[in-house]
Amino acid sequence: MTTPSTKALVPFVSVDDMMRLVHHIGLERMLSELADAIEADFKRWPSFDKTPRIPAHSDLGVIELMPTSDGELYGFKYVNGHPSNTASGLQTVTAFGLLADVANGYPVLLTEMTILTALRTAAMSALAARHLAPEGSRTMAVIGNGAQCEFQCLAFKAICGIDKVRLFDTDPAATRKALRNLAGRGLDVTACTSAQEAIEGADILTTVTADKRYATILSDNMVGPGVHINAVGGDCPGKTELAEAILHRSRIFVEFPPQSRIEGEIQQLAPDHPVTELWEVFAGTAPGRQSARDITLFDSVGFAIEDFSALRYVREAIRGTAYYVDLDLLADPDDPRDLMGMLLRSQTSAKLA
Ligand code: NAD
Repeated sequence: MTTPSTKALVPFVSVDDMMRLVHHIGLERMLSELADAIEADFKRWPSFDKTPRIPAHSDLGVIELMPTSDGELYGFKYVNGHPSNTASGLQTVTAFGLLADVANGYPVLLTEMTILTALRTAAMSALAARHLAPEGSRTMAVIGNGAQCEFQCLAFKAICGIDKVRLFDTDPAATRKALRNLAGRGLDVTACTSAQEAIEGADILTTVTADKRYATILSDNMVGPGVHINAVGGDCPGKTELAEAILHRSRIFVEFPPQSRIEGEIQQLAPDHPVTELWEVFAGTAPGRQSARDITLFDSVGFAIEDFSALRYVREAIRGTAYYVDLDLLADPDDPRDLMGMLLRSQTSAKLA
């Protein structure tokens, strides 16, 4: 019989442990470090296997698998998007993910990724804005004050120096919740009664609403020159947030074009409409903002490499801590070919017990 010390155990980070880890590291520090991890991986973009995520659509939402590998590690995330879930007390987005060693295929980490997705999405948004937003940006409007909202606000504070946020949601209870959670965090927070009011004086416009349709959260006349748009909520076929006319006036930056053309705001445009890949901006091989009057648009959909970076980060962060448990996930017979023997011996020991 195998003893626990010889078993290949897989570190598992539960939701409780992830929350403890975030508090241990510090929320804003973790957002900054995740942004650095994502930037480092985007700078070595050609070394990754890349594929648009694999969706299973239904009338009410989508379930997606997001795999990638850098040749040494392989990662995937399981994530759903169901905008109507909140009406029955469930979240719009939940996720978990796994990292594995490419050399032997054994998993090296299994973790919750609902909280981690909110963190990595916010870190990615703020990282893009660090490269694209007008210099000296201090004020951000956030339209859509659901689960992602406060993470976005705090990432932009930590990474871009935003100190004022102006919030709007069609459901005032969502805005009240965000106000409560952001109190005492060093942000000047204003609740607004319309999207138009929220964008007044804002350097950065974040849209992070959930609705499975072609919505118009920002119309053309709401967007003046010189702003940066962080469009997060349009991330599925048939689910967008911006009036098409805004896209024609913007310099558009995306994660992975083959996925963004299906899922992002740019699904509204011709398939050859020019866009810039963000990794090139991070690597210094493509320009970001070129003039103070540019409208820059990060058409965020969420790409597998961001999750890979987050998984890699968590694997390192939990080393030497108590923020995980070892899972008996992999059958591990003493003789690798004697899987049946292991099963049969377990029956004998069960009878003896
Ligand atoms: P959520 O359901 O918790 O919050 C969405 C909020 O949008 C709700 O409070 C709702 O009242 C509000 N809303 C809907 N229509 C609106 C409108 N017209 N104007 C103003 N507010 C409106 O969802 P969440 O977890 O915060 O996610 C928000 C969106 O972000 C979802 O569409 C999700 O799929 C997307 N998302 C994208 C990424 C990415 O990487 N790009 C990652 C995570 C989530």
